[in-house]
Amino acid sequence: MTGDGTRAVRAGLPEAEAYEPTLPGPVFAAHYHLPGDPVGPYTYGRDANPTWSLLERAISELESPGTDAETVVFSSGMGAISAVLLSQLRQGDAAVLPSDGYQLLPALVERLEGYGVTVRTAPTGEDAQLAVLDDRTKLLWLETPSNPGLDVCDIRRLAEAAHARGTLVAVDNTLATPLGQRPLELGADFAVASGTKALTGHGDVLLGYVTCRDPLLAAQVRAWRKTVGAIPGPMEAWLAHRSLATLQLRVDRQAATALALAEALRDRPEITGLRHPGLPTDPAHRLAAGQMRGGRFGCVVSFTLPDKECAERFLAGLRLVDDATSFGGVRSTAERRGRWGGDAVPEGFIRFSVGAEDPDDLIADVLRALDAACAATGG
Ligand SMILES: *Cc1c(COP(=O)(O)O)cnc(C)c1O
Repeated sequence: MTGDGTRAVRAGLPEAEAYEPTLPGPVFAAHYHLPGDPVGPYTYGRDANPTWSLLERAISELESPGTDAETVVFSSGMGAISAVLLSQLRQGDAAVLPSDGYQLLPALVERLEGYGVTVRTAPTGEDAQLAVLDDRTKLLWLETPSNPGLDVCDIRRLAEAAHARGTLVAVDNTLATPLGQRPLELGADFAVASGTKALTGHGDVLLGYVTCRDPLLAAQVRAWRKTVGAIPGPMEAWLAHRSLATLQLRVDRQAATALALAEALRDRPEITGLRHPGLPTDPAHRLAAGQMRGGRFGCVVSFTLPDKECAERFLAGLRLVDDATSFGGVRSTAERRGRWGGDAVPEGFIRFSVGAEDPDDLIADVLRALDAACAATGG
């Protein structure tokens, strides 16, 4: 099997054909010529699109190389997450979700409960979700590393315990990307992600996907997409596919700089709660090293400054880092996560997303902004 970089640059490309482009451009079509019986592959634009098909094949090759795994792409990560939860769970079912997962999960939990699904939640760290699994649990949802807390759970261990009870397992793989972690190889039934973040990496596309090996589960997710219409535009799908060619370059560079930044912040007196799964001293490091791939622990570093004012001054003082949400882009961003109100984080909590800048420039900018921000409070 080829290496990750080779796979990333070739993923999903069609067979070479004389005078055709390497990656065909986006196909804009609401409908296709359709004589006779309405059998595919392409009938109506909400059901399938050739640009999605190539991207779906590419993501399958990255999430689960050498298998027949199928991917279904969506208009956003939330479209993909909702598709798994809502296509699998029915009235009377039970599900276990993380209590510290993506900030919109609680809104989905409320909806599921309204539909008669029992939901239990527990934190990601220390595999706490194990304790709330029971024989009625139809679906276990994991997010590792978690956003924004960067805790890690043991996918193999949780998937084994879940499968022993007949429970399906989904893993939100947004932060790691398929180059950093392959949930299906670790035993999950669904790898789910927002492609908006590191997968596409340029901060200009919203996208989501679900990959599974069981064709029946893939068909259920695909049918859900058709029914609710959470489809990506052809242009977004094409931009995403184009971006996959640089995935290894971006992920490796951003992960290495994230680790260097975390190391540079380790001894700063104004910082508490520094987290990055690649730091050997991080509480999640041992587990992360056992299931994440190639030293790719993601581009996010999180830490807490003494208060809201210090955090705001820090963000305003950064010159190479945009104050913006989301993560995984080639341009560094950081934000005071507490401004959204959805996460259980302190007022001074910063989620920092490391981009592709020169590491020395970026680290110097951060240390300078920290000096200025926290000197103003005398420490
Ligand atoms: C951003 C994010 C999502 C949601 O994805 P969108 O593309 O914004 O809908 C889901 N899970 C995680 C871990 C995320 O970071």
